[in-house]
Amino acid sequence: MARKMLIDGELSTPSEDVIQYDFDLFVIGAGSGGVRASRMSAKHGAKVAVCELPFDPISSEVVGGVGGTCVIRGCVPKKILVYGASYGGELEDARNYGWELNERIDFNWKKLLNKKTEEIIRLNGIYKRMLSNSGVKLFEGEGKIIGPNEVEVTQLDGTKLSYLAKHILIATGSRAQRPSIPGKELSITSDEALSLDEFPRRVVILGGGYIAVEFASIWRGMGATVDLCYRKELPLSGFDDEMRTVVAGNLEGRGIILHPGTNLTELVKTDDGIKAITDTGKELTADVVLFATGRKPNTGRLNLDSVGVKLDNIGAIKVDEYSRTNIPSIWAIGDVTNRMNLTPVALMEGTFFANTVFGGNPTKPDYTNIACAVFCIPPLSVVGLSEEQAIEQAKGDVKVFTSTFNPMKNTISGRQEKTIMKLIVDAETDKVLGASMCGPDAAEIMQGIAIAFKCGATKAQFDSTVGIHPSAAEEFVTMREVSRTISKSK
Ligand code: NDP
Repeated sequence: MARKMLIDGELSTPSEDVIQYDFDLFVIGAGSGGVRASRMSAKHGAKVAVCELPFDPISSEVVGGVGGTCVIRGCVPKKILVYGASYGGELEDARNYGWELNERIDFNWKKLLNKKTEEIIRLNGIYKRMLSNSGVKLFEGEGKIIGPNEVEVTQLDGTKLSYLAKHILIATGSRAQRPSIPGKELSITSDEALSLDEFPRRVVILGGGYIAVEFASIWRGMGATVDLCYRKELPLSGFDDEMRTVVAGNLEGRGIILHPGTNLTELVKTDDGIKAITDTGKELTADVVLFATGRKPNTGRLNLDSVGVKLDNIGAIKVDEYSRTNIPSIWAIGDVTNRMNLTPVALMEGTFFANTVFGGNPTKPDYTNIACAVFCIPPLSVVGLSEEQAIEQAKGDVKVFTSTFNPMKNTISGRQEKTIMKLIVDAETDKVLGASMCGPDAAEIMQGIAIAFKCGATKAQFDSTVGIHPSAAEEFVTMREVSRTISKSK
């Protein structure tokens, strides 16, 4: 409801054209999507405010922080730990390259954690400066919607302030969820995993998704014993089955103990740590049990019911193709809408929201051929269709090209770990429909392949591209033999 104001001496609700808005846009949540949308809207000339809770860099308690999940407790700190863990394998591999590593080599978790925290504080500062340099007003507090054009911000001291805005954008992201099993309070999520005081020597991880395999690689790379329990036969549901098999083999090859088809039924505190009991009758003892069992949209405390913003059955905000909710003045982007929960997608949605609402250029986000990567060690990266999706979605026959090889570096290091690459091609049009790779630098390589996808590249164009030699990436332009053809006509 619009704030009442004095019009001709009468207290009444003003019509749209006489409402004095405090801001053209009020954004709730200063994560990747919220910051991008704020800055781009300001660039288009809008008067913008954003609210976000301040964060305590050394506390694992889940509160806000300008930069959001990606910067504060997601992609960035995770990648720092992946880099840290990768040195473990690199040091082993270095021996055959002539490095004499006779001295005892120790890993100092606290040192890495402090470095990680310093970097997060630096990035948080950069994000805040980016907002102020764009002319965006930052309110440090928790926002909730109290009307179609009104946001209330509760500051840390409890003071409540309300603001009128022509448009409200919800960009509050998501948070980790845990299955309800007895003893679940003994477990941690990725939030706490990124700030553990002590290095966990024994870890049990529940889940087979992005976070589970990434943290399994991180802790194993640093020397922990890792038991990874997931309920499917392979980790990474939704990815190409052949790639999932390779990832599972690589995790096992690096010393991670896999428990496929396994769930946890109870956690019990013992003198020796936490006992994790599985539904297959095993008892695993750990210092830390990580639940990496998905995330849910952060909509609980926004007061959306009272203004009638519609949610789906998991609590995600329903939006149209332009990110508008059923209330015309309220919009939503990023994980809170549960469309494609990746940072770069939230950035795209934020940019396109600003173009649509303030740039005079209504633009729908394009979700086709978005590349992504799972930063297990070695990483998996994909763009376009998996083989299974191609079988399901392609109209005609599909050709599959695969290349599995021993990376050149391994020939000397002696590491037993193959790289795999795959291209899925439409047999009739020759268009490349899918590309996947599991091996070192997969994410770096796939970003370039994703551009080729945007250009609608054909297999003939891949083949006519001259490779970079010697590199693993050149395999993508030298796969000549069809591994199999999937016939849709049968
Ligand atoms: P994911 O959705 O990737 O995986 C969740 C895992 O938990 C699945 O293996 C799922 O099993 C399992 N699971 C779900 N519920 C239960 C349950 N009740 N009991 C046992 N197992 C369960 O979620 P994550 O938490 O790993 O990551 C959240 C999201 O964050 C990702 O989906 C991604 O969007 C984003 N992310 C992206 C990253 C990147 O880009 N590199 C890195 C980290 C996160 P099943 O497969 O059987 O359903």
